[in-house]
Formats: sequence, C-alpha cells, structure tokens
Amino acid sequence: MTETYKWVLRCFLECMEGKQPKAVVTNGDGAMREAIKQIFPDANHRLCTWHLNKNASENVKNRNNFLDGFSKVMYSNFTIDEFEEYWSQMIKENGVQGHPWVVKTYENRSLWATAYLRDNFFGRIRTMSQYEAINAIIKSYVRKQGCIFEFMNNFDQATRDYRNNELVADFKPSSIDPVLSTQLPVIESHAGKIYTAKLFKEVRHEILKAGELIVRDKSEVGGRKTYRLTKFCKDGYERSVVYDGSTFKCSCKRFESRGIPCSHIFYVMKEEHVDRIPSNLVLTRWTKDAKIQFLNSSNCNDNVDLNMIAEACFGSYCMVLTEFCKEASKKDGVYAQIMEDLMQLKKSIAVKMMMQSVHKSQ
Ligand SMILES: [Zn+2]
Repeated sequence: MTETYKWVLRCFLECMEGKQPKAVVTNGDGAMREAIKQIFPDANHRLCTWHLNKNASENVKNRNNFLDGFSKVMYSNFTIDEFEEYWSQMIKENGVQGHPWVVKTYENRSLWATAYLRDNFFGRIRTMSQYEAINAIIKSYVRKQGCIFEFMNNFDQATRDYRNNELVADFKPSSIDPVLSTQLPVIESHAGKIYTAKLFKEVRHEILKAGELIVRDKSEVGGRKTYRLTKFCKDGYERSVVYDGSTFKCSCKRFESRGIPCSHIFYVMKEEHVDRIPSNLVLTRWTKDAKIQFLNSSNCNDNVDLNMIAEACFGSYCMVLTEFCKEASKKDGVYAQIMEDLMQLKKSIAVKMMMQSVHKSQ
C-alpha cells in the first residue's frame, strides 16, 4: 500500500512542478504516513482532529469527561509543560491510565497536540473536512453509470463552480468596511484594511483578548524588552513577549502556527505605542491583496505556468467588471458616458501595453 501512496504523492509533486507541501493532514493511516515521510520529507505532518475525536469516542466508552478533556488537551494553546500536567491529571481523573488506545495516542502526541505543533504552520487546517467537502461537491456532479467523457465534462463544471465561489469570496472583503469594536481602534482599523474578512474576525478576537492581560514584569537587555504577561484573575497564566524595536516574538507561538499576531503581542504593541501591525507579522496569504501580489510577482517569474496566471487574471478582471456592470446597469442616463469612458480606458490600456512590449524588446 505504501508504494501506491508513494506513486500518488509523486504525481502530486509533478503537478506542483516539484514543490512540496509545507504541511500534511491525514487520518493516521500507517502506510500513508510512511509514504509522506519518504516523498515529502520536509512537510510537517499532523493527524486530523475530527478523526481523533471520533476514534476517542469509539475506543474510550462511557467516559464523557474524558472526551471533553481530550478535546481541550488537543486544541488548547498549552505549553508542553501545561499539556503534560493537564494530560496526566485528566487520565487519572477518568481512570484510563493503562487503556491501550490512550497509551498509543499519547505516544503519538507530537502529531496532534497543539502544544507540540505550535512551532509549525498548517495554514489553519486541523481536519480533513475541506477534502471531505470537495468530495461531496464532486459527488453531486458525478453519476455512477456515467462514462469517462461525461465524468471529465462534469468534473470540469464542478471545478469551474468551485473557482467561482472563490472569486465571489475574493470580492466580498474589499467591499465591506468593518465596524470597529475593540479598545484599540487604530490597530483594529489597520487590521480591517489588510486582512480578509474571515481573518479579520480572528485578529479582532485577539485584539479583544488583549484587554484581559496584565504586565507581571518588564525587563530590558541590550535594546530587547521582555514583557511577562498574566491574565486578570488567572495568576497561574504566563506568556512572555520579546520586542527588539522592530519584531515581536511571543512564547505562545500563535503567529508561528496560525499566522496571525496573538493577544499578547497586541498588548505589547499598545504598551510600546505601535499603531500598525508590523509587516513581518502579516502573512501575505491572509491579506486582501494576496492574489494581486501573486499575479504581479508571477509575471516576472518564468517558472510559473503562464496558462494558470492568465486564467487567474481573467477571473479577477471578470469579477471586478461584472460587479461594475451590475451597478452601472441600474442607473439611468449614464450609458453613453460610461461607454465613452470604457472605450477611453480600453484605448489607454492598449497604448500602455504596446509601450511595455516595445520597452521589453529593446
Ligand atoms: Zn502570544
């Protein structure tokens, strides 16, 4: 079986022009795990949390407190010490110390516990649900009795519909201004301008959580300030943020694992009068103009598939123009003016492109 998975992964690599994924999420199948190790040696591997929860409820029966504790220990942003302490207390309380599934799962903890995976970036993916969702979409376009030609045709249609959803999602964030609601509106407003709507919600939650924090102590060595923070009425809680004048680094490692600044960093930004999220804490992939940056940089890169770039550009142009046409067609008495402006725009772009091609050929 490992050989079959290796073949599939090699095909994937070929499609991706040799680019390995940074992270892989699986259901824990041993043969697949071995294939991943051999073909994607640099990828971080984690087990699907949905499958782990399902296995926990099937293997450890009649112990509801164990399932709650297991979920908590899996998702919480514990340090390794906090994880170990919570785990040993939780399995003692539930009387499952020697349970074979619990013992085996604990041995694999570096593949599922957030405490052990905090250093690794998984693009915010913890389950295989996205893959299951794609399966469900494809299924609705495929008939059991269909021939291969029909399958390819329907598959193509399914892919086009899926991409259209992406275009709609791309457009939404740029057309909505978020309502500011935190105690740090300047930082929040900056976050609203740069992040997509979905990410902004999560970033705003981190800004809100900064309100619960208190400085335990602050020290400075050679221009590096260290803030030790705790939470209001939670004396045992501690995280530390180091700030060297340009970068912030927090012991909770939320930025390293989720790609967004944590509440602790937002708190220290306030203390240090930093009113914009530093660019080294903003991952392009979570920003509104991620695609624009990609398309602009790709034009100069010969290794990128030109058809793919052309398709992405075509999608973006259509998205913007369709919205514009929808709005414009509802207005009376502007047709002649808009058509004249569009023709003018078309001419000026044509001249610009001609100048660029002349410049390149010189
Ligand atoms: Zn933090």
